[in-house]
Amino acid sequence: MQHSGSTSPAQQVYTIGIDIGGTKMCGALVNGAYNLLNYHEIHTPKNPTDFLAALLELTNSLQTQALKEQSIIVQSVGIATAGIVDSQKGRILGATGNLPGMQGLNQLRTLWSEYSTLPLHLENDANAAAYGELVAGAAKGCQDVLMITLGTGVGVGFVIEGRLVRGAHFSAGEGGHIAVSMAHDRLCTCGKWDCWETYASGTGLAETARRMLHSTPNAQYSKMVIDQAMGGIDAVTTHHVIAAWKAGDPLATEIMDAWHTHISVGLGSLINVLDPQRVVVGGGMAQFVNFTLLSQRTRQRMMLPKASALGLPDTEIVPALLDNRAGLVGAAALAVL
Ligand SMILES: [Zn+2]
Repeated sequence: MQHSGSTSPAQQVYTIGIDIGGTKMCGALVNGAYNLLNYHEIHTPKNPTDFLAALLELTNSLQTQALKEQSIIVQSVGIATAGIVDSQKGRILGATGNLPGMQGLNQLRTLWSEYSTLPLHLENDANAAAYGELVAGAAKGCQDVLMITLGTGVGVGFVIEGRLVRGAHFSAGEGGHIAVSMAHDRLCTCGKWDCWETYASGTGLAETARRMLHSTPNAQYSKMVIDQAMGGIDAVTTHHVIAAWKAGDPLATEIMDAWHTHISVGLGSLINVLDPQRVVVGGGMAQFVNFTLLSQRTRQRMMLPKASALGLPDTEIVPALLDNRAGLVGAAALAVL
């Protein structure tokens, strides 16, 4: 194993970036210009022993690849993961239900040091994605950035004056759990009511769809239900809504419209607090966002909808550029700070 410190001019220093998701983990070698080498993905094991073994195997294979290339040396490893992450001590304080393999691995850096001499940086995945988009993606060149990740849940990461904000208890990125209602209407996976992600996530969209279908006369005969969900309103999922919406189904279009309002409510509140220069929207659901519509709805919630009237640039809401690579790029970039 080699470390930086005695690099010859021809040697390139790379960092290993890894992003751990619920179903797969991806990794790559990342250089100082954020170019990726040897990107690959593996399945995320469900139990802690297999999980750690898979993580080490992924790292070792990337490092072995680097050593084969004589000009490349690896200096450190950055890992992005869901959950509340103590990035100072390299601990996962609150694992998530999506990552059962993480349970019992809260002292990940300590465990890691028994197997590898490479320094490890651990980061919350939403934070890492925000940082990745800042250094190499849709927010390149910005100082004040908010990133939201729309998937099964809603992740939030933000950078203020060029620095990633983690908070006193590493929970600053839990913005998916801001309350958007006091009606006790939707119970969140976190145990509290009416969190933003119960509306704005893919799961939230499906819930909205089922509710709208139940309250629409004869909705059980809609194409969305009959063609997509085999006849049952309660069986309607995000996938069915998207398929019906793409086919031009009017009710699915209404549901998608409501989803944009739901995203805008939480997003407008976050913008009012953080006043970002740019908002980056990523995650698996971002491809279904109509950015013109989302910007219009969000501006209705903002205290400063038109900063240009004051001679300042307006806050822009833009799609993420790095797709599922933002987390690993960000983790790698944070590992060498
Ligand atoms: Zn919640």
